[in-house]
Amino acid sequence: MGRIHVLSEAVANKIAAGEVVERPASVVKELLENSLDAAASRIKIQVEAGGKKLIQITDNGCGMVRDDAMLAFERHATSKIKNADDLLNVATLGFRGEALPSIASVSRLRLETRASEDPAGTIIEINGGKIFKVEEAGLPQGTSITVRDLFFNTPARKKFLKSESTELSHIASLVTHYALAHPEKHFELHSATNAMLVAPPVTSSSERVYQVFGRETLDQLIPIASVQPLEHIGLPQPPPWKKSEEDEEQPAPEPGELRVHGFISKPEIQKLNRNSIYVFVNGRLIRDRLIQHALTEAYRNIIPPTVYPVVLLFLELPGGEVDVNVHPSKTEVRFRQQTAVHDFVRASVRAALMKARPVPQFVTEMTARATATPALTPGATPLVDISSWRAAHVPEGFTLQPPVPPPETERFQFGADGINVEANTAAALAAAPQTVTDVVKGDSCTPAPAAEPEPSTDLGSSLASMKPLGQIRESFILAVNYDGLWIIDQHVAHERILFERILKQRAVQKVESQRLLMPLVLELSPAQQAVFSEISDELNRNGFEAEPFGTRSIAVKVAPAAIEATQVEHLLHEILDQISREEQAFNLDKVRARIAASIACHAAIKVNMPLEQNKMEWLLTELAKTECPMSCPHGRPVVLRYSIKDIQKAFKRI
Ligand code: ADP
Ligand code: MG
Repeated sequence: MGRIHVLSEAVANKIAAGEVVERPASVVKELLENSLDAAASRIKIQVEAGGKKLIQITDNGCGMVRDDAMLAFERHATSKIKNADDLLNVATLGFRGEALPSIASVSRLRLETRASEDPAGTIIEINGGKIFKVEEAGLPQGTSITVRDLFFNTPARKKFLKSESTELSHIASLVTHYALAHPEKHFELHSATNAMLVAPPVTSSSERVYQVFGRETLDQLIPIASVQPLEHIGLPQPPPWKKSEEDEEQPAPEPGELRVHGFISKPEIQKLNRNSIYVFVNGRLIRDRLIQHALTEAYRNIIPPTVYPVVLLFLELPGGEVDVNVHPSKTEVRFRQQTAVHDFVRASVRAALMKARPVPQFVTEMTARATATPALTPGATPLVDISSWRAAHVPEGFTLQPPVPPPETERFQFGADGINVEANTAAALAAAPQTVTDVVKGDSCTPAPAAEPEPSTDLGSSLASMKPLGQIRESFILAVNYDGLWIIDQHVAHERILFERILKQRAVQKVESQRLLMPLVLELSPAQQAVFSEISDELNRNGFEAEPFGTRSIAVKVAPAAIEATQVEHLLHEILDQISREEQAFNLDKVRARIAASIACHAAIKVNMPLEQNKMEWLLTELAKTECPMSCPHGRPVVLRYSIKDIQKAFKRI
């Protein structure tokens, strides 16, 4: 007997659920998209326990007649497409007919719906994929879906869920962004304890940004809008023998156009990851590497390569130009004319950035970056072209904070067998562990073993014996001792000192603080709010005194002593953002380190700051006392060394 059998519908649904329903936010995404497809103008979402216990979405859309309501839970049952050709031009967010049966197979689901043409509504209840109640009831027009106990029958999945606050912040961020994509619709998101988002209809995207994020964020964003006609149609023309005569006579259809609108951040806004980049293609929230690349290109030399902007981009193009059927959760698409889309996005974003700032403040396209000079002719070229490095990284008029050192794995070479000065990062270690003797390992505190015993291998004692000579560009301290020549990045050195000090003070419960002259009221995004409620205690122990103030704001009365009042706001936003993006459940040690690192970064002396001799000495002495003087809390190197051996070698003395 054969061994292959067709899986039951129930098993098939569970398998599909594995792809479509990853976490509570994916349920919210699918249901929200269904409400939008149903042309709802009012969507209300209620969640409990980060969506693990309850997700309820109520809309005033077209609703379903009884037969449709039953059919909706069949696999591949959809009202949105009819045949394969429709797949080439999908106008709705959904089209796979998989979401409802998948969600219903891993939860306890209740559907209440009434179509406008029906006098009575329908209620359906399904438990882990099994229908156990269907009844008629008087209901308002529209649909309400309640999903309880997600993954109650798939314990393995359930185990992988993150903490309630992490899941809630994913949901908040998702709803927020759909609300931004549809300013004309009413959105509400409520958690068990508070209203996280209430956004009545408005007439423009910027009003919606204001509603959701507040005035301040709006001020940091540059609106963008542009259109470009497409030159041809992306799908290949049918071969001549397939063309019917009728086609011949008809004029070629218009290729249509590319349109983009939305918001991009000013260069001074710098995020540590891509999580503040949201791209919608024809109203669908997607992740896309092509667009990501176009954005990076647009911001090249305007922000450092290691940070990311805030982007909210709505790209519209003819349905036939984009294939949406490439991913079960529909979060990826494929453009038929990739280059055209890429270049259009890059040019539009770049142009908006240029327009928003007077031109002289931008460095015109910098290509001469340190990374682009790997093969320096021996002896002929200076160590590194500082002016181009600086221009590339620190364009006039922008303060880049924290300062960004050259890319981590970079190596400056004097010549084929000349001096290697290597940034002390783990990546560099991996790249060339043998040839470099002076690497001080970045991530752990143990200095890398030197190939040959050096006069002094302990960075702490080396630092203590160093004599500062002066500064390079008021940013890097030059120092010498018996071991060689040293360059210390003054900002990250101070950052390291403060970071360890804050952690120590925190351990004995007394981070120094100061009362602000006036309480500072901060508006928070829903995701930030979720994090704040989780870590406010820890913030208070780190020298803050902040409490909820109104629905979406907090009032800060006290801040860590080292921080200037003007920095407090930025600092808190940064902390909340960073933690909200953490994938893991809250880990107190990590949260503590994050807070300390942020405070340290904001309190540390900056680059481009002259330092007197005694200040430089103080910095080196204090750095010598730290536990991990070789890297800053973000993992960047603090100290570079040109060892005496390398100097002798370069002068051909050994
Ligand atoms: P898809 O969205 O891919 O069609 P779903 O499983 O998400 O598949 O939904 C199945 C069908 O149920 C949809 O095609 C739609 O006709 C109907 N439906 C789902 N949600 C709603 C809603 N909120 N309002 C009206 N109809 C809905
Ligand atoms: Mg759907």
